[in-house]
Amino acid sequence: MKWHFLGGADQVTGSKHILETDRTRLLFDCGLFQGRRKEANEINRNLGFEPGSIDAMVLSHAHIDHCGNIPTLARQGYRNPIHTTTATADLLPIMLRDSARIHESDAAYLNQKTNRRGLPQIEPLYTIEDAEAAIGLIQPHRYQTPVELPGGVSLTHVDAGHILGAALARLEIPRPGQAPLRVALVFDLGRYNLPLLNDPVQIENVDILISESTYGNRHHEDARNEGEDLRAAVTRTLARGGKVLIPTFALGRAQEIIYLIAQLRERGDIPDVPVYLDSPMAQAISRVFENSKTYLDEDYHALRKRMGSIMTAKWLTFTESVEESKAITSSDKPSIVLAASGMCEHGRILHHLKHGIENELNIVLLVGYQAVHTLGRRLQNGDKTVRIFGDEFAVKAEVESLHSFSAHADRTELLRYVRGARPRQVFLVHGEQDQRESFGTLLRDELHLDVHLPVNGEVVDFA
Ligand SMILES: [Zn+2]
Repeated sequence: MKWHFLGGADQVTGSKHILETDRTRLLFDCGLFQGRRKEANEINRNLGFEPGSIDAMVLSHAHIDHCGNIPTLARQGYRNPIHTTTATADLLPIMLRDSARIHESDAAYLNQKTNRRGLPQIEPLYTIEDAEAAIGLIQPHRYQTPVELPGGVSLTHVDAGHILGAALARLEIPRPGQAPLRVALVFDLGRYNLPLLNDPVQIENVDILISESTYGNRHHEDARNEGEDLRAAVTRTLARGGKVLIPTFALGRAQEIIYLIAQLRERGDIPDVPVYLDSPMAQAISRVFENSKTYLDEDYHALRKRMGSIMTAKWLTFTESVEESKAITSSDKPSIVLAASGMCEHGRILHHLKHGIENELNIVLLVGYQAVHTLGRRLQNGDKTVRIFGDEFAVKAEVESLHSFSAHADRTELLRYVRGARPRQVFLVHGEQDQRESFGTLLRDELHLDVHLPVNGEVVDFA
């Protein structure tokens, strides 16, 4: 019985694993590797295995670093089932179609240049057609419902508490003459007390645990502080007559902020100003949230009952057209604007920043991770001038990062989870080297565990 660590082992994107037994080969996640264009292109085009050799695929959640290369799998001939939760099944078409559109338009843009030079055409990584082919393979299941996979492998998904529909997997793999091997897959682990979501469900009594370690060396602020942090920034800004500009990821963070705003509005903690969700993709995802009630926590249900609706509330405007978006951009009236992208790299947030960043009454609220070299990171670093659409702008608006926001477990939460699982062997993946090493040391010292830090391409024998 072999486990192939194909991607996302020693870095945080491109999650991809294969379980190989004498009876079957199963793929777990098929994420997009994100990085420099040339390297990413090479890694994403070469899956590292024959898609036709895979009997079934299991998907943990709809983040693009876990699902974003599934259309490549379909493009290269994969036609077997993709098992995931019902909520992820609803999110996946939105995520994969959007990703396919980006790859198609990237290729079209590059081909304009190659055309002029008479060079060969570049094929997109995958197309909308490939995404549709992949979407057709999805087989949705509920949490806590065992599913029999090829080779007699039993799969049970439980709530990861990470994003809507995200699942941790418990596997029971048959072994001749022995009890089945129990493996837990923890990609990605969410947090305790996150708004909207239920807490991660503990998988117990496993032999082997394969876990993410993104923040294996980091402590987050308590997730319960999110609402108060948001309230303080919003009231301060609205009181001085400014606009609140929130660059946001379309999946998860946008809905979390809307929910917190709903709570603050109900309590009368913030004034009744217009709230705009200026991202067609985030709007589509919000509608999925509204229809995925069984995946959301009790507090959400109680608030929804009192307010009627949250994700599609009357006080929340979904801007449809670019014209509507422009009208909000050019208005200086106090309001709250949520727009993609989360790191200010593209999307409608750039127009809002272009018009709002030089106004000292406004605030730019950073509520997510900002990667190096992004506009979001420059703002976070306190740069006094920034370039937007090629022009230079003075950063006069207040910029604040709210550190209580994170969908990933921190060091303490990861430790709590591993302790509860009681494995005899742990493999740490999905983390930068310093995060993995530090967390690995903690597990050895605190829990006396046998810990491994596999690299991409490593194959391990599970006895
Ligand atoms: Zn994730």
